[in-house]
Amino acid sequence: MKNGSPAGNIFFDSGEIWKAKSRIAGFVDKTPLIYSAGLSNAFRASVHLKLEFIQPTRSFKLRGAANMILSLSEEERQQGVATFSTGNHGFAVAYVAKELGIPAAIFISERVPEVKVNNLRALGANLVIYGDNQDDAEEYCYKKAKAESWSVVEPFDDPKVIAGQGTIGLELLEQIPDLDTVIVPLSGGGLISGIALALKSVLPQSRVIGVSMKGSPTMYYSLKEGKPVILEEKNTLADSLLGGIGLDNKYTFQLVRRYVDKVILVNEEAIAAGMASLFKNERLAVEGAAATTIAALGEKNLIEPNSRVVLIISGSNIDSKSFINAIKAYL
Ligand SMILES: *Cc1c(COP(=O)(O)O)cnc(C)c1O
Repeated sequence: MKNGSPAGNIFFDSGEIWKAKSRIAGFVDKTPLIYSAGLSNAFRASVHLKLEFIQPTRSFKLRGAANMILSLSEEERQQGVATFSTGNHGFAVAYVAKELGIPAAIFISERVPEVKVNNLRALGANLVIYGDNQDDAEEYCYKKAKAESWSVVEPFDDPKVIAGQGTIGLELLEQIPDLDTVIVPLSGGGLISGIALALKSVLPQSRVIGVSMKGSPTMYYSLKEGKPVILEEKNTLADSLLGGIGLDNKYTFQLVRRYVDKVILVNEEAIAAGMASLFKNERLAVEGAAATTIAALGEKNLIEPNSRVVLIISGSNIDSKSFINAIKAYL
């Protein structure tokens, strides 16, 4: 499988993940894997946490963005990069561009809240504000990028981005070579596709489980329908998991269909309780998307008793007030 594996009608060379590992080494930290005694006792398994929020931009998104941008030619880099994400991916692209000293344009709609706008500005990105929703901003991003010869850094549906996220899987193979199950927050599917490709190329019997919020789980319904669907977005604590998978999805839909063993859904109360539980057990403060993995442990018969389980704690971009509001009912 190291030489690539067919997935539906696409072919993904998992060797790209090993290449990504050396390419991004100077930008991305190898993150710790810690054992959680509290969660292990509560769920009768050996529960480990992969602390991806330790990255400089507080989420794993740096891995994929760095791998994509570092794969561009010198000339392409100097032309500049662009993206249309307001969240962790936008931060990651802005950060990598700043480190490399190349121009980056982030396309956002007029509706993006001021905190986020200020945070992106602080990273030195050129903010292009357009339209009253993120779809318009995305369309405009592609149009301008074409005219200006900027490279668009996709948030998840790109082989270099998927390979970058997959480097988490390579670290897990070193840190816990006998793992049984990995539980991964799931939105567009770049994170889970990369991890599943890396793990299953070495440990084909390992299980990879995706978690989304009940409100608008686009990948879950797309898998059910057998094709990408669009859902209305609902407010959620797991705001980093909002957004569709793209009706013309090229990679992640098929990769998830092929390599992910199961996708489960969790409700808002369980996400908040998960955030509180991580704080109480480990003194870690994380965002809702990351806590979906803890919420998932409550699902009946999901994990084998005494098995070795890894939860991907994907990010911690949440302000103090929202964090306190979310957890206070569960302390
Ligand atoms: C983007 C993101 C995810 C989901 O990653 P996908 O590749 O879109 O599935 C999970 N957690 C956090 C914190 C994120 O920023």
